[in-house]
Order: sequence, then C-alpha cells, then structure tokens
Amino acid sequence: MKETIINNLHTVHNRIAHACEKSGRNPADVRLLLATKTVFPEYIRIAIEAGERLIGENKVQEFRDKHEALSDLSVERHFIGHLQHNKVKDVLKYVSCVQSLDRLSIAQELDKRLQQEGRNLDVFIQVNTSYEESKFGLQPADVAGFIRELKSLDTLQVKGLMTIGLLDVDREKMRPSLTLLRQTREQLIAAGIENSDQFKLSMGMSQDLDMAIAEGADIVRVGTAIFGNRVIGKEIWNESEAEK
Ligand SMILES: *Cc1c(COP(=O)(O)O)cnc(C)c1O
Repeated sequence: MKETIINNLHTVHNRIAHACEKSGRNPADVRLLLATKTVFPEYIRIAIEAGERLIGENKVQEFRDKHEALSDLSVERHFIGHLQHNKVKDVLKYVSCVQSLDRLSIAQELDKRLQQEGRNLDVFIQVNTSYEESKFGLQPADVAGFIRELKSLDTLQVKGLMTIGLLDVDREKMRPSLTLLRQTREQLIAAGIENSDQFKLSMGMSQDLDMAIAEGADIVRVGTAIFGNRVIGKEIWNESEAEK
C-alpha cells in the first residue's frame, strides 16, 4: 500500500504540474488537500510523511477517531463536510479552517465558541454551483449578501469559496460548475466585497482537478486518486449520507 500511495501522489502532483503548465500557472500556487474520509490513519500517515501538509475530513467523528494515531505529525486540517450544530464545538478542536460554511446559524455558533476561546477561524463559503438540490451550499447570487452578514462576526475570516460541483462521467459537463465558482468570485470583486480579490477557490477532485486548475483552483481536494476507491455507501456526493 505504501508504494501505491507514493506512486499515486507522484501521479497527482504530475497532473497538477501539467495542468499548471498548460494554463500558465505556477504549481506552487496550487495546494493539494488530501480528502481522507474513510481512509485509515496508517495510510494518511504515509502521505504526510511523504511531504503532504493539508488534510480534510467530512465528519468531525473521523477527525476524532484518527486524531491520536496522527497526533505526532504536523499537518494543517480543514473541515470539508456538512457541519451540524451539535458538532460546532468539537470541530474547533481539530481544524484551522472550515471550508464548507453555508449558513448563518452555524457561523453565529462558531463565532460564539471562538469568542469564548479567544481565537479566530478561517472559513470558505460553500457554493452550490450545480444547482442540484441534493448539494449543500449557497446559490452564487446569495454569496455577497451572506458575506456582508458575516462581517459582524469578528472571529471568522473569509478566505475563499468552495464547491463540489457537478459530477458526471462526461467531463465537459463538469466544467460549468468550476467556471461558475470563478465567476462568483468575480461578482464579489465587482460588488466591492472586502478582500475578495484575495479569495482562494477550493474546487477540483480526483476526476476534474485538471479542469479545475485551468479554471483557477487554488486548492484541489483529492481522495480516490491517492488512496483508492472508498467503501461503497460512503460517497459524499450522496450528501444525504452527511453526518447526522
Ligand atoms: C471526498 C471529497 C473530495 C475528494 O473526492 P475524490 O473524488 O475522492 O477525489 C473532495 N471534496 C469533498 C468535499 C469530498 O467530500
């Protein structure tokens, strides 16, 4: 398994480098986030020891379960799943960034806890770019208003936009979602949203990371292409499976 993971990491980094070259971007500007849902800590360790520095989980429970086994490793942790109210306190034990902020009530609870703890948190706004009802995230047109509402919550620092996008066997059907996230940032800039010209785009997964980079992704989130197929039934884009 070690060899497989190391080889897969090489392949993914080559894909990133190639996509950057094609679109005239610097590979150093694209971060790889390991999407580690359902992956055993031993396997995550292999990737971190090979030099990876950013992991993301969809469930707070998985951070908790794997924490001890990985606690000696220095790695940045982001939350990328659907955050439930009763997990707000716990998620803050593990992450420096929540990439999936999609509603005010959660933002307010995060802020309340963070005030108590005297710290800040980076957040990305999750955007529904595929207009599928099964997907979480704000409609693109609602993002500017949402960010204005967050302004009074001093502990939250908006750093970017995240999307899952449309997943389809036909790759070209996936591109409009990626384009739309980039355009959403452009709309924020045009609307004068503070710092929005610095906002990062988190988009692109195993299937579409190349296209995502061409569309301007700053963070690609990759699981399957590194760790192999997950257990059936735990696929996240069946988001009805999201943490209860
Ligand atoms: C699982 C997951 C990914 C990675 O998907 P793969 O197709 O396995 O690369 C990316 N983002 C989110 C939010 C995920 O849940």
